[in-house]
Amino acid sequence: MPPGSTLAPEPAVAEADDIRDSQKTTCCVVGGGPGGMMLALLLARQRIRVTLLEQHKDFDRDFRGDTIHPSIMEILDQIGLAEPLHQLRHAKIYGPTLRLANTTFSPVDLRRLKTRFPYIFLVPQPRFLEFLAAEASKYPDFQLVMGANVEQLIEEDGQVRGVRYLGHDGMHEVRAPLVVGADGRFSRVRHLAGFEPIKTSAPMDILWFRLPHIPGDLPEAEGRVFGGFGGGRVLAVFDRFDYWQVGYVFPKGQYQDLRTAGLDSLRHSIAEIEPAFAEHVKSLTDWHQFSLLSVESNRCPRWFKSGLLLIGDAAHVMSPIGGVGINYAVQDAVVAANVLAAPLRADRVQVSDLGKVQHEREWPTRVIQAMQSAMQNRILASALRAQAAPRIPWFVRAFFAIPFLRDIPARILAFGVRRVRVQEERSV
Ligand SMILES: Cc1cc2nc3c(=O)[nH]c(=O)nc-3n(C[C@H](O)[C@H](O)[C@H](O)COP(=O)(O)OP(=O)(O)OC[C@H]3O[C@@H](n4cnc5c(N)ncnc54)[C@H](O)[C@@H]3O)c2cc1C
Repeated sequence: MPPGSTLAPEPAVAEADDIRDSQKTTCCVVGGGPGGMMLALLLARQRIRVTLLEQHKDFDRDFRGDTIHPSIMEILDQIGLAEPLHQLRHAKIYGPTLRLANTTFSPVDLRRLKTRFPYIFLVPQPRFLEFLAAEASKYPDFQLVMGANVEQLIEEDGQVRGVRYLGHDGMHEVRAPLVVGADGRFSRVRHLAGFEPIKTSAPMDILWFRLPHIPGDLPEAEGRVFGGFGGGRVLAVFDRFDYWQVGYVFPKGQYQDLRTAGLDSLRHSIAEIEPAFAEHVKSLTDWHQFSLLSVESNRCPRWFKSGLLLIGDAAHVMSPIGGVGINYAVQDAVVAANVLAAPLRADRVQVSDLGKVQHEREWPTRVIQAMQSAMQNRILASALRAQAAPRIPWFVRAFFAIPFLRDIPARILAFGVRRVRVQEERSV
């Protein structure tokens, strides 16, 4: 579902006769994004039967971030996957560069952190998901069903006991003592379970689009990820090897004004912020090349009920500030596997076990969401109001000049507010 869309109308409840087959598993994970894929892998490694249902037929999807933070790399290292992941085509960044009035500012230098992986590893998300899926497929207890669109929860005696999904050949059923909704920001599982997230609206929306790499492009030294400001707009640029992925950030609710002003005006605005893109923007000739992300963050007050748990974006959508959504989804998955592996193996998952997962993950989520809100409401909102690129206030420069303080933002960006580690019963 594209960013900004709403849920499709509720499909009719399938009759028993419509169900082609019914399978049993120990844990049914809905959604093969970073959260669901990591959870399925960690359970399968511990010989727990897991069925992962993913609605798309492959992992190639709209851009949704390419960032693997040091925390994820440490988790992958624990299970022997950091080195193989480095075999994929990737880039490393040590901190984003902000281009401001007459200067550049790099608030974060990950190289000073105590970790084997002091960088953000950039790999296209589809390649990362394929990598995790290939790894999980080595375990006999892992089953992946692509093209499986979950439409219904099976609820009996007040407990979730499985799901029904629409495959290419009709309706199927998967029964399990635990269903995990890892189906992202528009989570159908969350909706079917009757959970309503509390939303916090951000002061901005983002238009995402691609620009081609062209000869004489920006030198690599400029950085793989950078942000530029100007004319009340912010540009976030990611180098994706073959093209630039660009986010054009503008004040919330002004999308129609952008459309009315026309493509010429938009191209001009982009080139004004980043003059090196003056040639590139000529490739933008149709509004279909853009996808609108209505930025919001949210959090469910409750992430579980009997037989069901939500993780990742399904439980909490993070603001794009700092690009921590993938990090948090993976950390949720690790905590869920740590807490639930033993009860799943014993076929005794209690509601209190599910509550423990929320308890461990909710406060780090709340802390980061509060920080993101403060940054977007104070710093980003004023950049979007200003016509000129902002200057860094002296006290911010002073903060980043003090050795003891300057690495706090880097540590939070790298690990969140709490480092998460895999605890497995089997030896790896
Ligand atoms: C434009 C954009 C840019 C972003 N950039 C970054 C970034 O730079 N860094 C970062 O960390 N985060 C970024 N994010 C956020 C990041 O993508 C999410 O936080 C992260 O992917 C959440 O992982 P997840 O596993 O919880 O959910 P998702 O990655 O959303 O995965 C959910 C999966 O569930 C599947 N699904 C949905 N409904 C069903 C259903 N009914 N049945 C079966 N399967 C279903 C979907 O197809 C999808 O594969 C960005 C997001 C967007 C939209």
